[in-house]
Amino acid sequence: MSTRRLAVLGATGSIGLQTLEVFRTLTAEGFALTVTVLAAATSVAPLADAAREFGARAVGVAGPGEAERIRQELPAGVEVVHGPQGLAALAGRDDVDLVLNAVVGAAGLRASLAALEAGKMLALANKESLVVGGELVRTSGAGTAAIVAVDSEHAALQQTLQGVEEEQVECLWITASGGAFRDRPPEALAQVTPREALNHPTWRMGPRITVDSATLVNKAFEVIEAHHLFGVPWEKIGVLLHPQSVIHGLVELVDGTVLAQMGPHDMRIPIRYALTHPRRLPGAPTRLSLADLTLELSALPRDRYPAFWTVLEAGKTGGTAPAVANAADEVLVAAFLDGRIAFTAISEGLQSVLSAHRPAPCDSLAAVEEADRWARDRARAFVEGNG
Ligand code: MG
Repeated sequence: MSTRRLAVLGATGSIGLQTLEVFRTLTAEGFALTVTVLAAATSVAPLADAAREFGARAVGVAGPGEAERIRQELPAGVEVVHGPQGLAALAGRDDVDLVLNAVVGAAGLRASLAALEAGKMLALANKESLVVGGELVRTSGAGTAAIVAVDSEHAALQQTLQGVEEEQVECLWITASGGAFRDRPPEALAQVTPREALNHPTWRMGPRITVDSATLVNKAFEVIEAHHLFGVPWEKIGVLLHPQSVIHGLVELVDGTVLAQMGPHDMRIPIRYALTHPRRLPGAPTRLSLADLTLELSALPRDRYPAFWTVLEAGKTGGTAPAVANAADEVLVAAFLDGRIAFTAISEGLQSVLSAHRPAPCDSLAAVEEADRWARDRARAFVEGNG
């Protein structure tokens, strides 16, 4: 097999750093992989370190200021680009085969579209690509056929669906840990603090996604992603509470068989598979202790996670509604983390913003960006009125 040339976008975040760690292990084991492109928004010093370590040919950063600073830290000849356009150009470069998109935020969508249009394989960890731009991604290049999922639930479903025909699928099930407040009485949720919300029971992740796990907004986003990624109708995608986070996804078949994918909660495992697929290589970073497992699954309680249902509804509405849900959620979560609104105001704000939105078709990046701006303004107004 020829050397697989990798672009890591979002290289200094949690997934990006774990990708570089997996990369070091794989290349030390002799797997033919090189990093040609690295991008990160503002973490200039760690990005420069990584670019020198891996001999990257091009790097991307957020703006001209970061570009100026990183240029001084890199060998002559390394191309430096900035902004969403720069990121998209990196994703489409001739010297890249596989784009691992772990960008946080809507800038990741543009990069995903560029990668697909240029015929690249896309290892997808950027939520917004499918949540906000699912309708655009599906019609871009090879569409979802070129995507290998990095998110644990979608990686699980994608692997479990191998060899399964569409008409054999009864239901896809995504599991949810239940987040930081799964055992709190609902009436206590108005008083919880940002510090408590950031204490996720099983996964270590960035602040926004950890809060999104406590509200289950993240799980609604994952249902939207699954809908677009696998082309499965809404009524055939369900969510189950599973506090152990060992089963990541289940495929229930028409004949009553249920196929499940299990694994340690260690993102290096799906990342490793994304880099080596369709091959599987020895050298698991962690393993399940199968003889000691207790696995509990239960239905999602209807009243505990109001934001889940609100965001799921936005997904079903489609068009610009999911972009509005995403942008409003980002503003509301930031306001909660700043101590400006209560935890329960996240779901109230989402409800308020989405009920005021008139969805438009999601037929261009411009439509997405316009909806994003509108939602941020509305969410900020909600924060002002509810602080
Ligand atoms: Mg996930």
